[in-house]
Amino acid sequence: MSFVLTCPNCGVREVTDFAFGGEVTERPKSRPSTRELNTYNYFRRNVAGVQREWWYHRSGCRAWFLAERDTRTNDVHWTAMPEAAP
Ligand SMILES: [Zn+2]
Repeated sequence: MSFVLTCPNCGVREVTDFAFGGEVTERPKSRPSTRELNTYNYFRRNVAGVQREWWYHRSGCRAWFLAERDTRTNDVHWTAMPEAAP
């Protein structure tokens, strides 16, 4: 399983340059119940398809950024800094 990612700062690099940060989740509102907090901490959708994910450029600029990737094919549709994500 090898593919390339485009760091918004550094450009195209092998996936081994990066650390996977998991799928993007929605934080609970201001005072979550225990159930909402447990869901946020432990449950993931784990889709077979396109999902939005966090990636960290550990061997480069050490920036966290977002990517949209198809988990079935590892096709990366786009990458962007969080403030510039579509
Ligand atoms: Zn970088």
